[in-house]
Amino acid sequence: ATRVFSGVQPTGHLTLGNYLGAVRRWVDEEQYRANALFCVVDLHALTVEHDPARVRRLSRQAATLLLAAGLDPERCTVFVQSHVDEHVRLSYLMECTAGVGEMRRMVQFKEKAAREEAAGVRLSLLTYPALMAADILAYGTDEVPVGEDQAQHVELTRDLAVRFNRRYGRVFVVPRASVPPVAARVMDLQDPRSKMGKTAALRNGGAGVVHLLDEPDAVRRKVMRAVTDGGTDVVYDRDERPGVANLLDVLAACRGDGDPAGLAEAYGSYGALKRDTAEAVVELLRPVRERHAELAADPGYVDGVLRAGAERARGMARPRVDAAYEAVGLLPVG
Ligand code: ATP
Ligand code: MG
Repeated sequence: ATRVFSGVQPTGHLTLGNYLGAVRRWVDEEQYRANALFCVVDLHALTVEHDPARVRRLSRQAATLLLAAGLDPERCTVFVQSHVDEHVRLSYLMECTAGVGEMRRMVQFKEKAAREEAAGVRLSLLTYPALMAADILAYGTDEVPVGEDQAQHVELTRDLAVRFNRRYGRVFVVPRASVPPVAARVMDLQDPRSKMGKTAALRNGGAGVVHLLDEPDAVRRKVMRAVTDGGTDVVYDRDERPGVANLLDVLAACRGDGDPAGLAEAYGSYGALKRDTAEAVVELLRPVRERHAELAADPGYVDGVLRAGAERARGMARPRVDAAYEAVGLLPVG
């Protein structure tokens, strides 16, 4: 059986990028694998400046959205990272396995550290990949379904698992990342050379970021105003024509069709491409938004799912984390 783990940070409202890059596959495919776990990774949200009340609100909202999108708590485990102590326990051993140099080389660290400079770069932003490795390795995960931007962190997780196993004996499964064939990196509609991101939504007043809970008219407005490139013909070229390529990726992903370049041939103008993309996104998000409204009316239900999920996750993580503690030479509780 394939063990699956993945997560989403409560750093902002979930975006179309999160959905197409990650969440949709969790719902459509990954939750049917044995013992899949999906986590609101709230500890990671503390690596940057944040408002406590907002993180708490966004954590519940993210969990509610995962259920609204179709994760079935009878099939998979949905939980909040900070509810399961094993993540932090194992994170320390990962910090003892990783080197400072490899942490500094992470692209996400470089990008977010540059943004955080005014507020002060937190040490946890540098060590973030150690906690992420712990998230994944604690469960004996085989496969980590993520967007392309997280592939480097999963690669580091593999290195840490291999290194730990070589030093102390085989404790961890060596996981692999899986990224979707299309829309693995959805770009900001106003700045198609940057990734669409929850945090990036604060730039441009969020005009380039589609949120899962945006009203249909807001979605249409954002897509219709997307920055396209010089030229008028519709061609698929991610380097030279990133704005148009992004719309083609999104439309292909919405249609469940893996061929954005083929789609380009069907369009003679940007206007038609934008209109079809806007409608496709509106229809994609409609059921998620509707179901979210229902579930949000019953926070007790969501809390119950998270409580049960944390309990199950704890039971799955504890034996392996205990084994790792013993393997490195820590004295077990007698
Ligand atoms: P932040 O800006 O706080 O990092 P984010 O939007 O990048 O937020 P994460 O919680 O870091 O969201 O990532 C959750 C999942 O969504 C990960 O699997 C990540 O790879 C994926 N993802 C994030 N942004 C995109 C995107 N633009 N396109 C495709 N996948 C994405
Ligand atoms: Mg991110």
